[in-house]
Amino acid sequence: MRYFSTRDTNIEKKTVSAAEAIVQGLAPDGGLYIPESVPQVDYRQFKNLSYPELAAAILPYYLDDYDAAFLKQAAESAYAEAFGGKAGRTVRLSDGVYVLELWHGPTCAFKDYALQLMPRLLSEGKKIVKDPNKTRILVATSGDTGKAALEGYKDLDGIEIIVFYPHNGVSRLQRLQMATQRGGNVGVYAVIGNFDDTQTGVKKAFHDEELAKELAEEGICLSSANSINWGRLVPQIVYYFYAYYRVLESENLPDGTPVDFCVPTGNFGDIMAGYYAKKMGLPVGRLICASNRNNILTDMIGTGTYDTHREFFKTGSPSMDILISSNLERLLHYVAEEDGQVPEWMAELSKKGVYAIPEEALRKIREDFDAGWTDEETCARTIRETFEKYHYLIDTHTSVALAAVQTGRDGGSKGAPVVVLSTASPFKFPAAVLSALGETVPENDFEALSKLSEITGAPAPEQLTGLLELPERFTQVITAPEIMDIARGNGKKD
Ligand SMILES: *Cc1c(COP(=O)(O)O)cnc(C)c1O
Repeated sequence: MRYFSTRDTNIEKKTVSAAEAIVQGLAPDGGLYIPESVPQVDYRQFKNLSYPELAAAILPYYLDDYDAAFLKQAAESAYAEAFGGKAGRTVRLSDGVYVLELWHGPTCAFKDYALQLMPRLLSEGKKIVKDPNKTRILVATSGDTGKAALEGYKDLDGIEIIVFYPHNGVSRLQRLQMATQRGGNVGVYAVIGNFDDTQTGVKKAFHDEELAKELAEEGICLSSANSINWGRLVPQIVYYFYAYYRVLESENLPDGTPVDFCVPTGNFGDIMAGYYAKKMGLPVGRLICASNRNNILTDMIGTGTYDTHREFFKTGSPSMDILISSNLERLLHYVAEEDGQVPEWMAELSKKGVYAIPEEALRKIREDFDAGWTDEETCARTIRETFEKYHYLIDTHTSVALAAVQTGRDGGSKGAPVVVLSTASPFKFPAAVLSALGETVPENDFEALSKLSEITGAPAPEQLTGLLELPERFTQVITAPEIMDIARGNGKKD
C-alpha cells in the first residue's frame, strides 16, 4: 500500500510507503497521508478472532511493508495485557443501544488504542526506512494525550519523549499521572501560563530552523505524537469491526445488518477510522458525529460551511474542545470533486478562518454522516439518567454522544442498532461526573474518586488510585521560552 498527501494536486502522485508515512507524520506539503486505495475485505472472515488477533488481521492491509510477524507481536503486546483482556469490550445498555468501552487501557482513555501501538510502528518504521536518527518527540498537552503518549513511548529504542503541560492547568489526577511517569527516555515539564502558551512554545521549537540544524548535527530529529499521523488512525479501525461482531451476536442479527456508530468527536480521528472501516466493506450504517458546545462540526455537516469565527467554550468534555479538526481534511479528500479543492479549502481556512464546500461534496458527506451536539446541561442530565435507569456510569465525553443518539432517535429512529463509543472512564473525570449525579464534589480528586466509587459500587481503576503511592519524579516548573532549551537537550534529567 502506498500513501499520498491530501494536498498533492499532481495527476501522477508522489507516494510513500506506510513506514515512511508514519516516520514523517505530516506530508512535506502540509497535507495528511492517505492510502492510495482502500482495501476491500470480506468482514465475515474475522468474526471469531480475539481483539489482538483481529488487529493482527486488519493492520497488514495497510501496513504491508511491516513484517506480519512483527505486527502480530505488536498487536499482542499492545492489546492483550495492557487492556486487562477488555480491549473492545462492548456493553448492551438498552434496546439496540450499545456502549463500546474504549477505556480499559493504561491511561483510561481511548487514545491508548492508538498510542499503545503507534510508538512501536514508529520505532519499527525507522528500521524499515533505515533512518539512523534518534527521534525526540515533543508533546504539548492539555491533559490526556501527554500521559497516553508517555505510556506508549516509554523505554522504546531510539526515541525520547518530552511532555509539556500548563502549570496549574490540568487536574491533580492528570498532573500525577504525568509526574509519576516511569521510563528512562521520558521528561515532563509544567509550563507557566495556559495551554496556548505551552503549545505555542512547542510549535516554536518545531519551526526553529537553527534548532533543527543543531539537532541534525547530533543525529536527532524532532517529531510530534499528533493525531494526524496515519499510525494513530489505523489502529482505531479495528474496534469498529470488533464491536460490529459483538452487536450482531448479542442481537442475533444476520451478517450484513447495518450498525450505526456514534462518536464523541474532537479532531475527527476516531470517527474517520469508522469511515475507513465502512469503506473497507464493514456494514456500518450511519456515522454520527457528536460534539459538545464547540459544535463547529455539527454546523459543517449541516450546512457545508466550516467557520471558526465563533466563541471557544471550555466544557466538561475538554478533549472535544477543538475548533480546528485536523483529520477532517482526510474526509474532504474523499468528497472533493477534484484534487485542487482540498488545498484550496485549507488555504482559505488558514487565511480567513472559514471555507465552504459545494453542495455535491456536502451531499456525499451526508451519505455516511449525521451530526448532533449536546449542551452542558443535557450532558450532565444524561449521566444522571443513565445511572438511575441502567445503573451504568459514563463520563462526560461518552454522555455527549449518548445524548446525541437519544435525541436523534426520538426524531426518527431508523431501527438499526447503534454503538456509542465510550472514550474515557468516568473515573477520569470524577468531579464532573459527581456533580452530574447531583453530589457535592470534594476538592481533592482522590477523595472524589473514592466517593464516586462508594456511590456507584464500582471500583475505581487501579491506574488512577495507585498514583498516590508512586514517587513523583517530575516536578520542574519552567517558563515557555525555556521549552526551546529543553528541546535542545538541555533539560535536567532526574
Ligand atoms: C481525544 C478524545 C476525543 C476526541 O477524539 P478525536 O479522535 O480527536 O475526534 C473524545 N473523547 C476523549 C475522552 C478523548 O480523549
